[in-house]
Amino acid sequence: MSLLKEIQRRRTFGVIAHPDAGKTTLTEKLLLFGGAIQEAGAVKSNKIKKGATSDFMEIERQRGISVATSVLAFEYDGIKVNILDTPGHKDFAEDTFRTLTAVDSVIVVVDVAKGVEEQTEKLVEVCRMRNIPMIVFINKMDREGKDAFDLLDEIEQKLGLRVVPLSFPIGMGYDFKGIYNIWEKNINLFTGDSRKDIEETIEISDLSSPELDRLVGDKAAKTLREEIELVEGIYPDFDKEDYLNAKLQPVFFGSALNNFGVRELLDCFVDIAPSPRPKLSEERLVDPKEDKFTGFIFKIHANMDPNHRDRLAFVKIVSGKFERNKPYLHVRNNKKMKFSSPNAFFAEKKEIVDTSYAGDIVGLHDTGNFKIGDTLTEGEIINYKGVPSFSPEHFRYINNADPLKSKQLFKGIDQLMDEGVAQIFTLELNGRKVIGTVGALQYEVIQYRLEHEYGAKCTYENLNVHKACWVDPKGSKSEEYKEFVRVKQRFLAKDKQNQLVFLADSAFSLQMTQQKYPSIKFHFTSEF
Ligand code: GDP
Repeated sequence: MSLLKEIQRRRTFGVIAHPDAGKTTLTEKLLLFGGAIQEAGAVKSNKIKKGATSDFMEIERQRGISVATSVLAFEYDGIKVNILDTPGHKDFAEDTFRTLTAVDSVIVVVDVAKGVEEQTEKLVEVCRMRNIPMIVFINKMDREGKDAFDLLDEIEQKLGLRVVPLSFPIGMGYDFKGIYNIWEKNINLFTGDSRKDIEETIEISDLSSPELDRLVGDKAAKTLREEIELVEGIYPDFDKEDYLNAKLQPVFFGSALNNFGVRELLDCFVDIAPSPRPKLSEERLVDPKEDKFTGFIFKIHANMDPNHRDRLAFVKIVSGKFERNKPYLHVRNNKKMKFSSPNAFFAEKKEIVDTSYAGDIVGLHDTGNFKIGDTLTEGEIINYKGVPSFSPEHFRYINNADPLKSKQLFKGIDQLMDEGVAQIFTLELNGRKVIGTVGALQYEVIQYRLEHEYGAKCTYENLNVHKACWVDPKGSKSEEYKEFVRVKQRFLAKDKQNQLVFLADSAFSLQMTQQKYPSIKFHFTSEF
């Protein structure tokens, strides 16, 4: 198959949801359709249970599972589908944000009873900022939940989306009768039999047909006719270009657990979802169809076995094809590297492959050469944008608890930060190290991993920081900047890239500082 065809038949996406909305269940059913797995229960949920915060085994288990489910690929209808896993737990939100830099589209799962939840809001906001095409799947229709129109309103308002229902439920919960597929103009009746792999659909060319009354009963048929009329009146027509430009989001209803409405979602998805999209680098816009390989690292995973310190670096191929044993340029290190055993992913297995194409993810064994955001090319200097650090939410001093192991401690911290587990800041005043994380859970992960993988011990000390802001002196008045650096020295630190960061101790002091030094810009992400 030609390079162009290979690239065009790829769909790389992420499923995002608030924990418990049904992300794992839906992913599993999608894999079932792809024939990639034979039975339910094969995809492990990688969520950390409530109260497991201090359970290190749970963290280890979690890390193991998340390697296995980082990328789930399968073939469907001639299309190569790559699902990238996005942890739903809020303490791992940064991991999810980074994964979103490697997807070409997303499916958003919403629980019909709970509606739009907090984590969904945050993740969708990131997708909106990046103009990522989104399809919404409203899940758990077999349960009592919100009225379909109310929920669509809520999605528009809370998520800032412009929705178009492409399917519509006939009743819900106890009265759930099935789904009318607006996209394919047919009806799928719900039997509640989750053992069935594939449901039967009944073609309904005309909603006014008496066949409908016979199938779902007079009352439900009447309601459906009225509702579809309303849908057609209220919502815009589906427009593929608008969807691809993230200006419009199609919505499907179903029940992942019952494997109901999932085939409709998948069929529409492979039809409309984008093949790999062009990506902006600092140098130029790179088209996936270019024949030269380029890619970037969006995730690094440590080996679970402490005796083998190598890590797996996940590369999203942006353009061309990646070949085994071919020398590629590691742009940041200006060094050629060859990879003899690149891993590709198929369902929940990984295997060594010779060739992968734009859109695919390859896992490269790494002994510490890679950092998140690194770019590989065939020789051209390209630096991909868009893997920024966000301001952490928690800050603590890190202290060495075993003076004989300081070398191990520094090496460990260095590598964990490259993996993106947390961020480190070095105070300008006294050189003390501060670890910033998105969730409190990360402190335990770091402590545990330092001890078990590097043989180093650390303790933490609280530090009152509200937010880390990256200081941008470009265009500032030099007197003003000098004064800022002198007066605020106590609150200044350098991040790992040696960028200056202001650690504001409260929202108020941040506001005062911004007012006092108006020519200096303060950013909440490291990329500006
Ligand atoms: P995740 O946290 O988003 O990955 O959610 P899971 O896929 O683990 O699902 C959370 C819970 O909701 C599990 O107990 C599922 O069995 C259940 N669930 C998922 N889909 C459905 C559905 O369509 N109907 C019902 N009733 N329960 C569902």
